[in-house]
Amino acid sequence: MKFREIYCNNCKKMLGRYNIKYYDNDKIKEILKFRHSLHVRKGHQVIIRDVIKKS
Ligand SMILES: [Zn+2]
Repeated sequence: MKFREIYCNNCKKMLGRYNIKYYDNDKIKEILKFRHSLHVRKGHQVIIRDVIKKS
């Protein structure tokens, strides 16, 4: 299964993981903007990365 992770480099923390089947890029960006805007506003480096998980 493929997932897209929202990860904050400053907090060293994964903020969310989303199945790309249900969440496309626009949706992820929307989530980032509304749910994790605190990190962005603090100037944190938030990245979106793809991960592949077995099972
Ligand atoms: Zn952060």
